[in-house]
Amino acid sequence: MMFTAHIGLGANLGDPVRTLGAAIQALRQLPDSQLTGLSHFYRSAPVGPAGQPDYVNAVARIETGMNAHALLAALQDIENLHGRTREVRWGARTLDLDLLLYANDEIRTSSLNVPHIELKNRNFVVIPLLDINPDLTLPDGTRLADLPAAHDINGLQQIATGIS
Ligand code: AMP
Repeated sequence: MMFTAHIGLGANLGDPVRTLGAAIQALRQLPDSQLTGLSHFYRSAPVGPAGQPDYVNAVARIETGMNAHALLAALQDIENLHGRTREVRWGARTLDLDLLLYANDEIRTSSLNVPHIELKNRNFVVIPLLDINPDLTLPDGTRLADLPAAHDINGLQQIATGIS
């Protein structure tokens, strides 16, 4: 059986667009899975400590036969493979992959929260999700397009990358 999953991608060190491109290639190669959607790419102002470079964010949709826990483990493998800067040996992780949604499931365990806990509050997640599916509804019945974050373009700028 195949399930639809949405994955959030973010990077803010090194060459973020290139890192996201490599991550998307890796998503295409996940076992028992197919990439079926990709949002625009967005440059976004960092949340958290000041002085960090801007992030680049996107969202991908896959159809997958993997269960949510196996998928999270595979995403963590991709983070570890593609998420280190060349400049700094053993440097900070430069790629963040979040399992945003898995089918219409609500999963609350110590290692996995789906829908992702911050999903509704982050315009850099909500807006790219809407690129892929403007009618998307969360498991709790919330229409994504009705969230304040869907109409908040603060700090967010669509960028052209040639990656599709
Ligand atoms: P971060 O690097 O800040 O994305 O945090 C990664 C940690 O969050 C890992 O230990 C995961 O087990 C946990 N986690 C919980 N739910 C999720 C999710 N939906 N997607 C990605 N990581 C998750």
